[in-house]
Amino acid sequence: TTTDAGGGLRTPIVAVLGHVDHGKTSLLDKVRGSAVTSGEAGAITQHIGATAVPLATISDIAGRLVDPDDFDLPGLLFIDTPGHHSFSTLRSRGGALADIAVLVVDVNDGFQPQTLEAIDILKRTQTPFIVAANKVDTTPGWNPQPDTPIQQSLEAQSDRAEQTLNEKLYEIIGELSDNDFSADMYWRVQNFRGNIGVVPVSAETGEGVPDLLAVLMGLSQRYMKEEMSIDTTGPGAGTVLEVKEERGFGTTLDVVLYDGSIRTDDTVVVGAKNDPIVTEVRALLQPQPLAEIRTEKRFEKVDEVSAAAGVKIAAPDLDDALAGAPVRVVRDRSEAEVIEEVREELAEIEVDTAENGVVVKADTLGSLEAIANALEEAEIPIVRAEVGDVAPRDIAVASTADETKHEVILAFNVDVLPDARREANDRNIRLFEDDVIYQLINEYEEFVEEMEREQQSAVLDKIRRPCRFRILEDHVFRQSSPAVVGVEVLSGTLRRNTPAAKFQGNDPNRIGTLKAIQSQGEDVDEARAGERVSVSIDGPTVGRQIDEGDELWAELPEKHAKILEQELKEDIPADEREALSMYLEKRRKVDPFWGK
Ligand code: GDP
Repeated sequence: TTTDAGGGLRTPIVAVLGHVDHGKTSLLDKVRGSAVTSGEAGAITQHIGATAVPLATISDIAGRLVDPDDFDLPGLLFIDTPGHHSFSTLRSRGGALADIAVLVVDVNDGFQPQTLEAIDILKRTQTPFIVAANKVDTTPGWNPQPDTPIQQSLEAQSDRAEQTLNEKLYEIIGELSDNDFSADMYWRVQNFRGNIGVVPVSAETGEGVPDLLAVLMGLSQRYMKEEMSIDTTGPGAGTVLEVKEERGFGTTLDVVLYDGSIRTDDTVVVGAKNDPIVTEVRALLQPQPLAEIRTEKRFEKVDEVSAAAGVKIAAPDLDDALAGAPVRVVRDRSEAEVIEEVREELAEIEVDTAENGVVVKADTLGSLEAIANALEEAEIPIVRAEVGDVAPRDIAVASTADETKHEVILAFNVDVLPDARREANDRNIRLFEDDVIYQLINEYEEFVEEMEREQQSAVLDKIRRPCRFRILEDHVFRQSSPAVVGVEVLSGTLRRNTPAAKFQGNDPNRIGTLKAIQSQGEDVDEARAGERVSVSIDGPTVGRQIDEGDELWAELPEKHAKILEQELKEDIPADEREALSMYLEKRRKVDPFWGK
């Protein structure tokens, strides 16, 4: 038995992306549900990880929007796991496995972080897409027209409801344009190559679902026919969606086949942790048809599957296979050649690593690649990037890092093994876990920023701060031992326990140590520019070394002046910077290289 023999034209593969809760799953369910109830015998075929909707069924659902005579592509294959996570997993030679994508955007919510992330991935992989502006039925005053084309439904709406919806739709169009995509309602788009079509839909009522299918079908037929022309009986090529233990079959691979065919007894080469696996297909499994769901067995064995299709492969030695890796049928080619092909494709995904950097773990090659791209953009180096759960040896790698900000592991959509978590704890390795890439990276960046802030303030704490201050007239409270006088801070920060100096020309003469600072009768640690405080100075006597009206300085050791000028200039307040440059200017009149 063969599924989906495409007669030389294969089914386009469709992925659904979008922000959480915007309705990806509901939309897929609606498409599947509509297909089931459309009445066509065998209307949809459940694949492993995907659902095939044949042209006849699409035309049934879409009514006058799809005339089957206009098409020769066999239908659409929807990937069942929505989200850009599975989308980036599903890569093929040099790009995305999905030929076309539906970006779901909640009309009420508009663009959200994962919408933007999805757009980035679509841009990067140059995948054509349309936007499903979902949940139109939530528009106040909406009059639902179940399962009708959207323009027909709009005619049944009040002017007010239509206007409210239009405003939201134009916001989405605006957001697309902010992201460099020119977009419009799909019925106004002439050229879908340069413009994104927006399809208003409701996954709840089915309104607009006919349009969505019609646009997907039309786009594929018009722009992808060439790519869809394949030898559906040639040696197959596919991508591992999941590596899964299956009772009675051992480790199996859920694969989406995008080229050629695969048969029982075919030799296949599969991308793996180390060298590619070469093995022989024992069984090809498809889900049991709906009618036979009551039988004991979940799977049905088939002899051959043609692209595009989702299939489970049972074969020996699959334990080390990687999700996201390529699968190739050898058949009449040389095994060595196919192994080389798989190697090259894996190398393409391989992440550039650096001498020093963070450890990254991800669930699939595709997601690893996506994270690596995002990290590169954020200029965060990677020391090790691997598919798999966080294990103790990852902690070992992180703990040999060159600096604290690299003593971390970024874990995307994987588990942390209990041993590893314990060790991370013991060795002070920070674990960042998330299943949204930008959030993962954000969390890490925030951690680095916070850490650097702390380090800087620790350095600043140890360093003398530039300060210029003046002894006020009529504010001498004590002549000496220690002298107690009122001062005004002119610029910079005055701190306790600071040697104080008075310039004689350009030479700072130390006059003693500023011991304590009091502001309004209270002891304080520092006083900022503009403040008037009283200070005690050990050493001088008022009337001899110092006098009312004198300008004094916090004495700056040369080394501190140098660090301040060269490293911390941006981190100190402007008035402190001013005090610093005045101080440096005086010193450099005597020694041009002072503090350099
Ligand atoms: P996903 O996270 O993108 O897969 O979103 P779901 O499909 O799980 O939908 C999230 C929530 O929105 C669920 O409660 C759905 O019932 C609801 N929902 C999805 N689509 C629609 C829609 O078109 N109209 C309404 N009213 N609710 C919807």
